Amino acid sequence: MSVAIWWIRRDLRLEDNPALWAACEHESLIPLYIHAPEEELEAGPGAASRWWLHHSLEALRQDLGAQGLRLVLRKGAHAQAVLDAVLEESGAEAVYWNRQYAPAQLARDASIKTALRSRGLRAESFNSALLFEPWQMSRQNQPYKVFTPFWKACLAQGVDQGVSALPRVWPKDCAHISSEALESFGLLPATGWDQGFNTCWSPGAVGAWRALTAFVKERLPGYAHDRDRPGISGSSRLSPHLHFGEIGPRQIVNNVLASLAGDVHEGAQAYFRELGWREFAHHQLYHFPHTLSQPLNPRWECFPWPETDEHLWESWIKGNTGIPLVDAGMRELWQTGWMHNRVRMNAASLLVKNMLIPWWRGERWFFDTLVDADIANNVLGWQWVAGCGADAAPYFRIFNPVLQGERFDSDGRYVRRWVPELAALPDRWLHRPWAAPREVLGAAGVTLGVHYPYPVVDLARSRDRALLAAKTINKTNRQ
Ligand code: FAD
Repeated sequence: MSVAIWWIRRDLRLEDNPALWAACEHESLIPLYIHAPEEELEAGPGAASRWWLHHSLEALRQDLGAQGLRLVLRKGAHAQAVLDAVLEESGAEAVYWNRQYAPAQLARDASIKTALRSRGLRAESFNSALLFEPWQMSRQNQPYKVFTPFWKACLAQGVDQGVSALPRVWPKDCAHISSEALESFGLLPATGWDQGFNTCWSPGAVGAWRALTAFVKERLPGYAHDRDRPGISGSSRLSPHLHFGEIGPRQIVNNVLASLAGDVHEGAQAYFRELGWREFAHHQLYHFPHTLSQPLNPRWECFPWPETDEHLWESWIKGNTGIPLVDAGMRELWQTGWMHNRVRMNAASLLVKNMLIPWWRGERWFFDTLVDADIANNVLGWQWVAGCGADAAPYFRIFNPVLQGERFDSDGRYVRRWVPELAALPDRWLHRPWAAPREVLGAAGVTLGVHYPYPVVDLARSRDRALLAAKTINKTNRQ
């Protein structure tokens, strides 16, 4: 009997899954997930992502069960060794997987493919995660460093809208192949900090489709405008589902287009553009793998980061900086594992520019606390804000979180939700409580320094300091 292994990674779905389709050509199938945290290096999941992974694997187990198949879970120090063991136990002749793109993953997969093929086994990888392979786009054989021409080139090439549904015929289960218990992976936290996650997320393909359907029906038409307003749920919140491959970008594009009946309105175009940023992030990481730890723009290597003020760092991670928009975001992150994009930009800018704390510390914190932590998107986002990455904001662009709050959270709904101690302040002072007259603060029951902190940095002075520091690298590089 011909047996195949579907090596499951960040493709936790049954539909539109080319590796699964290939594996279903065989008579018997082993859906295998390997937990090998030691080798995941830079792309290993952070604490919030581990929570997601646990529940997503559980959801996949149920989806496979409905097709008469068992999810086989194994752990080990190296995927190759685990694959070898399962190949030996099962006599499987083929291994299929969908690609991941972090540098260590690409290197590991290439070496596994070579090793398997050298033993006469079939080893094939596929694209399930992206609209375009990271190496597919180039201009004069050079990778893109600016988003707009990159995305124009993608659109000119045409987005692949073809999706495959569930396999038509399911192979038999390989009943004698044993599985470890999901709990043995130890993905869930020992203390109950994940309470808030349970109420706002449904990991798994069913949850992903529910989120997409609600978004397309209710929010897509207004997305171009509403996506920037953290107080309303204007974006799709599909990022963790996309990261774990519970839904793929081709499925999203296909579903959105089908819902529009030919009228690709402003909301849909804006939405596709954001999916384009995800493609761009993978393009960047593939072509410039050193950006995991170093700035894309080498000039920034000599940026004079001062010694980190740990008091500032603590205030930032705990959402106690005294800057309401940023505190709201950091608390949303802690309680839900997610933060609105506009607020991510403001929180990152406050850390890197006003506090002069290196971008990679913030990047690590986000990686550990976001349920959508994604090495490509996260590094791109942080380097963009820091001014040292692809298509980055110019160094003199420093977000003013007061003006940003007044513009994008003008009715204060977002800040009031996450910083309830300021809820009774009038809109006029909500984003700058330190400037409010004493009687206004008193009437709102707020004593600064008691109920809510004074700002830990002076926004204007710290901005000047950041500009001065950035000028020194410009000067250094001219010499
Ligand atoms: P929507 O607005 O509905 O967008 C649809 C999808 O497009 C998202 O699900 C996401 O996959 C993709 N997308 C949207 N914006 C971006 C972007 N700027 N860059 C790359 N992809 C994008 N996104 C992550 O998925 N993981 C991260 O670890 C991450 N870290 C970030 C760190 C910083 C400092 C910044 C500024 C942004 C980061 N982003 C990251 C990008 C963005 O904030 C999130 O993708 C977005 O907020 C997810 O919410 P959504 O699904 O509702 O997005």
